Amino acid sequence: PNPNLVLRAPEPTAVDPVRSAADIAARRRTNLSTALSLSYAEPLHIVAGEGAELIDADGRRYLDLVNNVCHVGHCHPRVVEALSAQAAVLNTNTRYLHAGITEYARRLAATFPDPLNVVLLTNSGSEANDLALRLARTATGREHALVLDWAYHGNLSSLIEISPYKFNRAGGTGPGERVRICPVPDPYRGEFGGDGPRYAAEVAVQCAELPPAAFIHESIPGCAGQLELADGYLEAAYAAVREAGGLCIADEVQCGFGRVGTHMWAFEAHGVVPDVVTLGKPIGNGHPIGAVVTTPQVARRFVTGMEYFNTFAGNPVSCAVGLAVLDAVEDERLMANAATVGAHFKDGLTALAERHEVIGDVRGRGLFLGVELVSDRRSKEPDAATARRVVEAAKREGVLLSTDGPADNVLKIKPPVVLTADQADRAVSVLDRALR
Ligand code: PLP
Repeated sequence: PNPNLVLRAPEPTAVDPVRSAADIAARRRTNLSTALSLSYAEPLHIVAGEGAELIDADGRRYLDLVNNVCHVGHCHPRVVEALSAQAAVLNTNTRYLHAGITEYARRLAATFPDPLNVVLLTNSGSEANDLALRLARTATGREHALVLDWAYHGNLSSLIEISPYKFNRAGGTGPGERVRICPVPDPYRGEFGGDGPRYAAEVAVQCAELPPAAFIHESIPGCAGQLELADGYLEAAYAAVREAGGLCIADEVQCGFGRVGTHMWAFEAHGVVPDVVTLGKPIGNGHPIGAVVTTPQVARRFVTGMEYFNTFAGNPVSCAVGLAVLDAVEDERLMANAATVGAHFKDGLTALAERHEVIGDVRGRGLFLGVELVSDRRSKEPDAATARRVVEAAKREGVLLSTDGPADNVLKIKPPVVLTADQADRAVSVLDRALR
């Protein structure tokens, strides 16, 4: 979730009776300013974007390290061109197939390892995860999902009930009945360090107690604090889930599409092939596109059990945009850019950790990085207050960051993958000053 869009709840006040038209107008203005008070101490009013930068109403430029949605950069000319050209020719779904949908599904499928070659299009990551869960429930005839602690999988009711991030943060609304939670295999804080199979033993226990419909995970859990999963975890967890007859769903909404640098999809770095993969954010570069990618074997069980209708999904404009984004990623070798610029950025952050005691851990792959701030390296006590101040100080110098993790003490770095080494250097020096 984008913390910049977290609205501040208004202070509860006694409501006076409405007295006049002017009174109503004044109340409207107050409501509007409440809606506009974003989580920055000083809200930003962004009016334009270009590459890895955003521009505010006063013409100030900001390096955007927050926006993993705008994958190939804000207003990429190729995407803008494809969008307007398609809108001028055919811009809605009809009852019939259009050329764009078959071409886009074919091209998207080609980025996956076998046998993941069935594509169902949606309008968002949440829709994709909701559909994936329904698919798993239909295919297995079971209800429960196994999830990692602090996971976030989307903003629909079916996902809030299985997203520990949501019910931990929202207070009050606890987990739904159809979820079981496993500890995150966190090499920095977890009790078994980097020993993945030991954490996966908990998955096996849960599967034995209650065989799940699905195990759903991110390959770099973002809301848990940009964690790199302990080695061997996914392989062992997948084995346990499959032995129990459940499906393995990889949520690549945030971490996918070449961002990790070494692979197009983050699960590939763990040597596993999921039964279902869900996509969103970057594949549309800011436009509402999501997808479920699965195997013919799973799709067959699903297609006979349920039908899938979606008015907007796979519309011609979305498909044209999706194709343009794919073209940009491939032709401009942006995955390789995420690898080299990401490694350079991470080296810079690691060097900062030598100067700033408050940095407890620097982690992540490619251009999906996290810097965890602690008040003491030995006790690893989270330092959220410093993280907040660093975000504000960096913003004053034109660098946008966000925080995440259970204690909100992890600086998240997930810029468009067109970021240059010079921009990464600039961000590191700004962070250096902000940390001071
Ligand atoms: N899955 C993950 C891992 C996410 O981070 C998000 C959004 O933050 C979603 C799913 C939901 O995607 P959307 O907001 O596009 O519905």
